[in-house]
Amino acid sequence: MISNNRLFLKAKSKTIVGFKNRFPNKFYIQPKTQENTKTLENTEKKKEQIICKFCGHHITLSQDKIYINGQHQHVFMNPVGVVYEIVCFSSANGCVQKGSPTINYSWFRGYSWRFALCSGCFNHLGWFYQSVHDSFYGLIYNHLSNLGVRS
Ligand SMILES: [Zn+2]
Repeated sequence: MISNNRLFLKAKSKTIVGFKNRFPNKFYIQPKTQENTKTLENTEKKKEQIICKFCGHHITLSQDKIYINGQHQHVFMNPVGVVYEIVCFSSANGCVQKGSPTINYSWFRGYSWRFALCSGCFNHLGWFYQSVHDSFYGLIYNHLSNLGVRS
């Protein structure tokens, strides 16, 4: 009986390890590709305005969408269990940054973060990420309007 249980546990732990290998960080969904920051190849070069859902203030442009770690859109969970669907932009002129930069619980390795607020209504729209080499905004999908089709 005991040896059977051990075998079972061993098999079970193998499954769990396999799962962890696919998702090394439970707060981070691995990108499909390993491309780094890259401007989206948007042949149409649309200048579609993306606005704050709460007040309509201009936040950024659809042409400023970028890929971070191979994806424009990411899903993360913060340390208290709130899930955020975020989209990445190279700039967001309609945001103001708040708080001191910190690397604690950063969803992007090598990047510190600050809060990004709407400069019109000061609602929380996402986070401003900065590394030694570059910076970008990760904005909460549900707090923006005019995002169009998800990519
Ligand atoms: Zn606003």
